[in-house]
Amino acid sequence: MKCPAGTATSSPRPGRASSGRGISGDLRRYWANMGVPSFRPDPWGSNILRRDGDSISCAPPRNTSPPPPPSGTRRGRGGWRHAPRPWRDALKPLLHPQLVNPPFGDPGLLVDLRFERRCLLFDLGDLEPVPARRLLRVGHAFVSHAHMDHFAGFDRLLRLCLGREKALHLFGPPGFVDNVAGKFAAYTWNLAPGYAADFAVTATALEEDGSALTAAFHSRRRFVREGERRIRFEDGVLVREEALTVRYATLDHGIPSLAYRVEEPAHVNVFKDRLEAMGLAVGPWLRALKRAVLRGDPDDRPVAAPGRDGTETVLPLGRLRAEALLVTAGQAIAYVVDTAFTPQTAARIADLARGVDVLFIESPFRAADTELAALKRHLTTGQAGRLAAMAGAKRVVPFHFSPRYQGQEEEMRREVETAFRHPM
Ligand SMILES: [Zn+2]
Ligand SMILES: [Zn+2]
Repeated sequence: MKCPAGTATSSPRPGRASSGRGISGDLRRYWANMGVPSFRPDPWGSNILRRDGDSISCAPPRNTSPPPPPSGTRRGRGGWRHAPRPWRDALKPLLHPQLVNPPFGDPGLLVDLRFERRCLLFDLGDLEPVPARRLLRVGHAFVSHAHMDHFAGFDRLLRLCLGREKALHLFGPPGFVDNVAGKFAAYTWNLAPGYAADFAVTATALEEDGSALTAAFHSRRRFVREGERRIRFEDGVLVREEALTVRYATLDHGIPSLAYRVEEPAHVNVFKDRLEAMGLAVGPWLRALKRAVLRGDPDDRPVAAPGRDGTETVLPLGRLRAEALLVTAGQAIAYVVDTAFTPQTAARIADLARGVDVLFIESPFRAADTELAALKRHLTTGQAGRLAAMAGAKRVVPFHFSPRYQGQEEEMRREVETAFRHPM
């Protein structure tokens, strides 16, 4: 993936992108040295802590190792060149997460939904490194809490979107509708109704029990708060679409702080050439077959399949699955920031992040500074690593390091890694 050229502009700052061309080489190198995926190519690639070896693994993500491709394909420099389209698509993850800033900067995660030309954003701290083109693709933003380092970037998003026909859905903790209304109240909007396009913001404040307060703000009506009502989210699910699900859990940062999980469902890909080789026709029956596979129906379940010659054949589900289908697990990512380490928050994080491919988790304090971390209602590196292990995360990416440890990032990463691999 090439780092896209954006139109973001900012005054030059040390260690910052200094032009409208997105991310500078210096900053990209810095991130690479930090060993975290950020705005650089291959965000799912190497240098993420994994729990499957003795050293930091550079192994590719697990879904780049599918079963052998169908016959007639060959391997080229860029991978398998002539595999059928469903097989090739199965290799490409939908979710591409990238940290917005280096680990000592403001927390934030941009999840690019490849193929859909849209992004999800987790936290609205310093957003300067994100190219404008990417920010304009954000339709949903999920805020953990309204401390400045997680919410001060709202203004940049607002300014970019103003004057465009766009809907933005914001989620945050209790009181969040007031936080958003307060942001709008800070400016004067007498000219906004004259804009040709309407920028519409929906803000939703989430309570621990799934109840929520939601309200809308439109540029064409000067961003006055309107349509306020109470709604409910069952099982913590905020977004449920065919392509992805987003859910939340409430943690304890002295105030409620929200953690999020985004995941895509498993895919079932059908190899048409293999079906043909079995003498079977494609058709609507495949939809029911895919549903049966995703449900986990038993291998001996009989499936009536139309033949290419117009007759019907009954085959066991297991044979169809083995010979003509490829099931690819959906990816899952969790984002956890600003929380105290308590039995309750640990249980909630482990539950929310269960089995994720990548857990992005705050690690502000060194492992030895547990008292200080408890006082500030934050995690230590050791706690973050243990939580990742408890959740059964496949990889962990620590970030949101306290500035008091500048220059100690390697030690901090090592502490997370040790606790992740050898939890007590
Ligand atoms: Zn905070
Ligand atoms: Zn914070």
